[in-house]
This record gives sequence, structure tokens and C-alpha cells, in this order.
Amino acid sequence: MGPIVSSDVPTPFADLLSKALNIRSITLVDFLSNTLILRQTAPYLPVTSLVALAKTSRAFRHIVRQSPDAFRYLDLSPIKSAICPIDEPLDSGGNNWRRERMDESLTEDDFYSGPLRSIFSKLERQHLLRNVHTLVLDGLSVTAELVKEFMTEERYNVRILSIREVKHLNERKLQQYLRYVSRPSRPAGTPRVKSIYLFGPREPPAPTMSVTKRSASPDSRGVMSSQGAQIGAEWNQKSTDALNAALARTEAKWYQPSGRMMVKRPSADWAEILQSCEGIIAFDAVLCRGPRHDPSKAYITEGPANGLPLPGSFLRPAIATVALGPSGCENCHSSPEEPAIFGHSAPSHFPLLSPVPLHWSSTRAAQTPRMLDGSRPPPLFVRCEDCLKGRWCERCHKWWDEECYAGSTVAQRTELQQTEFLETLEPDGTTHVVPKQSIKVHMGLCVAKCLVDEWMAGAGGNGMWG
Ligand SMILES: [Zn+2]
Ligand SMILES: [Zn+2]
Ligand SMILES: [Zn+2]
Repeated sequence: MGPIVSSDVPTPFADLLSKALNIRSITLVDFLSNTLILRQTAPYLPVTSLVALAKTSRAFRHIVRQSPDAFRYLDLSPIKSAICPIDEPLDSGGNNWRRERMDESLTEDDFYSGPLRSIFSKLERQHLLRNVHTLVLDGLSVTAELVKEFMTEERYNVRILSIREVKHLNERKLQQYLRYVSRPSRPAGTPRVKSIYLFGPREPPAPTMSVTKRSASPDSRGVMSSQGAQIGAEWNQKSTDALNAALARTEAKWYQPSGRMMVKRPSADWAEILQSCEGIIAFDAVLCRGPRHDPSKAYITEGPANGLPLPGSFLRPAIATVALGPSGCENCHSSPEEPAIFGHSAPSHFPLLSPVPLHWSSTRAAQTPRMLDGSRPPPLFVRCEDCLKGRWCERCHKWWDEECYAGSTVAQRTELQQTEFLETLEPDGTTHVVPKQSIKVHMGLCVAKCLVDEWMAGAGGNGMWG
């Protein structure tokens, strides 16, 4: 097979490139043989295209097989053969699937991870598996055993692993394996995987999917009734996203006032796993550093008062699930725990950021927020929901820290529910509705603005006060 792009059949791009490089003709083989170009290009090519390219000629096969960059980033999530054909192998009567497969030795792990294992064996036979440094398996059937193999077996070289919203992952087993691979007596150079995306939502597969994806996102508020409303909501979301990105100067959601960041709230055990993996494996989540998790600062109490935890009582380690944005507490613009400053604070204070980096496979690259204006990253304020109870508005994401606001008590809340809103007359003749008291957050909404908006919206119908 001859050159794909030659001076006889010029394409505008090859033509430009030829002129720029001052050479008469350039072939696609020349083009992709350049390490830098292949490194930048390959992650954008679906793996099926790479495989198809390798089949076209000896030269392309050589590039795809020999270059460590062709398969450095491997996203199997859109690959049909990677999907487990049956989601639920166990029928109501027992394990029929085993009888159907005519193989008594088949384990559940073999079954669920079968499609992926067969892809990995093929890649291994072609000596491509060792080149894979970033592996994306979002949404696929991924067992804890398979994850353990990525972390411990020498045939794998995966540094960044993304297993967001995967199926058939036994969390308990995965926790055990993570504890095991990060044990103090672990062999040098292990675990092989240094970064795991696990807690956040997977990235939408294509831009056209964003409308449906958005309504299924953890932050969605209700189901949209019509397409018009959906498009309107989409535009609202887009302008909110743009505004948040402009304020934080980065598109990294963890650095914006994004609110809840996880698909589901991680169980309490995960906080301990993150602690034991600190400095060994990074996750797309970090521990909350609110003062109540610090035994030296928190007031240790026997039990809850009036059914609610005391404002200063001790909290077990917890994962920070809420992104608060770069501004800090509404009053003092800081927080009792210093915010994490990129480049200064410990690396374990920074979550892996979405999307999974395409061109680099290091933890540092995955944690670095890309700034829109090239400036230094803003301070990172993140917390768990317990540390924000009664002090964070879920709608506008304003919050007040422990030093600026004691939080509301049961007595105050009852008082608020009995409080009538005052209607004040502004000098320009407009009326303004304000509550009388000093409670800042009630029922997850800030009293000064969002609660009033809610009350106004519900005043005609049956709002939260109805
Ligand atoms: Zn404050
Ligand atoms: Zn907390
Ligand atoms: Zn608010």
C-alpha cells in the first residue's frame, strides 16, 4: 500500500503541513511516526479505529504496535464487545446461567469480567497491554478481582484507572484489596495503579447526550415536562456552568460552587480506605477536613442533644462530597481548616479531576486544574454534608463556617417556622420580603434569598409553608 497522503493527492491539511515543514510531500505514516503527534492524536481515536488502522499496512501496524503512545490511553467504555451480555446471570430459581454455559467451574468473577479479560488477553498477545497506562472502563462490568489484578500483576502497567458507575463491583471486596495493596509491608513499586476514578459521575459519551444526561445527574431537580422546558433548563445550566467557570477561572467542577459531586454518597468505610491509601493511591475524592473531624478541636460528646448533633461534636472521618467554590465562608471568605492551595498543600488534599487526562498518565496531571487564563488555581473548599448541615444553601451554594455562625438549633427552627415574613417598602416603591430572625440556613436554603424565593413561589400554591 502506498502513501495515503502524497503530493499527487494533496489534502488541505497535509499541504499546509508540507509547506510549514518545507518538504515536498508527507505521508500519514510520516505524520503518525512523530512521537509528539501520535501522543497528541491517538487518545482521540477510538480503539476500533486504531485496530483498523493497524490492519491497513505493515507500516501502520508497526506504528500501532511498537509506539508506546498508540495504546497509552485506552478507553474501552464505548466498545460493544467489552459489555457483559447478561446483567443478571442469577435467575429467581438459582444459578441457571452456569448450566446454560455447561461449565461448572465458571465463577461469578469469570462470568462478569469475561468480556474484559478476553480483550486484555488479546492485547497481551499482541504485546500492547504493557503500553496501556491510562485505562477507562466506566460503566462496564468490572469485578473487584479484576481491579486487584490491575494493582498487583506485572503484565499490567495501568497508572490511572477509571471505574466510574461500573457494574458488578463488590465494594467490600474492593475495600479489602485496597487495604491490602496499600499495607505498610507492600513490595516496593506496588501498587501499580496510582490513581483511581471511582466516586464521580462518568463523562457524558457525546455532546448530543447532554440533555438526557443532565436530567439523570445527581444535581438534577425534578423531571422536565416538555422539550421546551428541557432546552430552557439546558441553557440555564449552560449559563450557570459558564458563570461558575468564569468565577473559579477553571472548568474543573471541584473548584467551582458545584454542590454535590458524587453519584451516590460513599459509605463511611470509604473514608478509612482513603486514609490508608493516602500518598499511595489518589482518588477522585478527598477527606473532609472540617474542624469536627479533628479530635483536638471537636467537642467529644456522649450523644446527640435534642436529637441533633451538637454544633461542635466529633465526627468520624468522612469523604468530602460537596464542592463549595473558591470564595470560602460567606462572612470571612476562609474556613477554620485552611483551604487546599494547589502547589502548597499536601497532594492528598486534591481530588483527581474530570475528565481523565488524555495526554499524561500521572496523578499530578490528573489533579492539576487547567486554568482558563493561565493564572494560579483558586483555593479549594470542599466538605462532607455533615459539616455543612444547617450552614450551606443547596441552591446558591453560599455557606457559613463554624467561626462565623453557630448553626441553627431546634428551638430556632421552630421559631422560624412560626415566623411570619415581613414585607418592607423600599424607597423606590417596590416591596421586599424578609424574615425577621438571624438564622442563615433553613431546610437547605439560605434564609436571606433562596428561602424567600421559595416562599414567594409557593405563596400562591402549596409551598413548604402550606
Ligand atoms: Zn467565616
Ligand atoms: Zn466533614
Ligand atoms: Zn441560597
